[in-house]
Amino acid sequence: MRSEDLLIEVASAFPPMEMPPEAELPFHASGCFQCEWLKEALESRRGKPVDGDLIRLLHQELSCLSAKAWRWVAPHYISYCLTPEADYNQMEAEYLVYNLGPEDKFKADVLNRFSLFDSRQIRCFISFMEYLANHEYWSDYFPEDIRKATDFLDAIERSRESPPPSAS
Ligand SMILES: [Zn+2]
Repeated sequence: MRSEDLLIEVASAFPPMEMPPEAELPFHASGCFQCEWLKEALESRRGKPVDGDLIRLLHQELSCLSAKAWRWVAPHYISYCLTPEADYNQMEAEYLVYNLGPEDKFKADVLNRFSLFDSRQIRCFISFMEYLANHEYWSDYFPEDIRKATDFLDAIERSRESPPPSAS
């Protein structure tokens, strides 16, 4: 998977979307400090381009983004991870992979956050894992985590496929 191909795949799978309303940004109900912090930080950037600064801001708090917020930010996040800036910073891609390969006790939460992605959008994440699996640095850094995330995403994609038509 080449970064050029992945960028095209992401651009065609994700229609442009505005940042969701403030109340629909956080994943957790009230009382989560990180959700409150993230909500305010995102709100202060409403209407501005989703750039590297914004991705860096939220990369450690991905578990506090709602399904709507994930759907909004995902194409920007994946595209950002293909830039030289992200290659240099590294943390953003790393945290995304950790979020995509959750431990059993967190799987239901991640499935909830991924509930608005269609199968094509899930495949963009799978393609991103393929890209990392062939990346000079990442393939050596945490191949097991990339595999774990890929397996989890594969399972989500299979669950999205409609059941075969019944023979009649
Ligand atoms: Zn939270």
